[in-house]
Amino acid sequence: MSTITTKTFSTPSGDVISTVPVGAIYAPGTVLDESGPLVGTVIVSDDIVAPLAPWSLIVKAGEVLTIVDVGGNQSADCLMYNAHDTAERYSVPDTLAWQGNAYVREGTVLRSNLGHPLMTVVGNEIDRQDTIGGACSKESNTLRYGQHTEYQHGCRENFLAEASRHGLGARDLVSNLNWFMNVPVEADGALGIVDGMSAPGKRVAIRAEMDVLVIVSNCPQMNNPCNDFNPTPLRMIVTAAPTSTTTGTDL
Ligand SMILES: [Zn+2]
Repeated sequence: MSTITTKTFSTPSGDVISTVPVGAIYAPGTVLDESGPLVGTVIVSDDIVAPLAPWSLIVKAGEVLTIVDVGGNQSADCLMYNAHDTAERYSVPDTLAWQGNAYVREGTVLRSNLGHPLMTVVGNEIDRQDTIGGACSKESNTLRYGQHTEYQHGCRENFLAEASRHGLGARDLVSNLNWFMNVPVEADGALGIVDGMSAPGKRVAIRAEMDVLVIVSNCPQMNNPCNDFNPTPLRMIVTAAPTSTTTGTDL
C-alpha cells in the first residue's frame, strides 16, 4: 500500500492541505501574488488550489467567486452546474450566441443549456477570457504531443475526479470555460493557444445567479504555453451577497 505525501499551502485564513504529490510544484523564484477579493468584503470561503489539482464548491445565489491567478498566466478550466439539478449545466453556445461575441468579458452572462443565467462576470482584470479552447486530456495530449505524454494527467482527468465527488461522471463533462487562458480568434477564424496576457494577482469575479456547483481544474498542461510551462496555484475566494442596504453599491 502506497502513501501519498501531501504539501501544505498557507493562506490568510489558515493552512490548506493538498493531496497533490510532492513534485507538482512551481519553479523556484516564481512571483506569487495571492491578491484578495475583487468584489465584496465578507469572505465566506477561501481556498488555495495547488498546481495541477482540481477544486469544487457550491456557490450560493448572490455570492461572488473571485478567482486569483496567483502566479500569472495559469489556466483555470471551469465547469458550472445548477447545484439542485445538474442536468442543467454551462453551455458555451448559449453563452456566446446570447451575447453575440466570442469572448467572455465583464458583463458576460454565463448561461446554461436551458438559457438560464448561471453566473455573471462582475469583475475582470484581463482583457478577455476564453471559452472556446476546451480542456486538455491525456487523449488530446497523446494526439497532439506524442505517445510519451500518455501518463500526464490533464484537465479532463481532474474534472472526472472532482465530478465524482458530486455523483457526476464522463457523460456530465461538457465544453468548458478557461479563466486566464489566451486563445485569440484570428481574422480567418483560426484559434491560437499562445502566451498568456495575465499576471500574478490578476483576478476575475463571477456572481452566482442561482446555487451553482463550480468545478475547476488547475490546468496541468506542460506541452504548450497555456500555463507558461510553470503551473502555479489559484486562490478561490467566495464573498457574501451584498445586504439590501448595499445592493448595487459594491458591485
Ligand atoms: Zn488543461
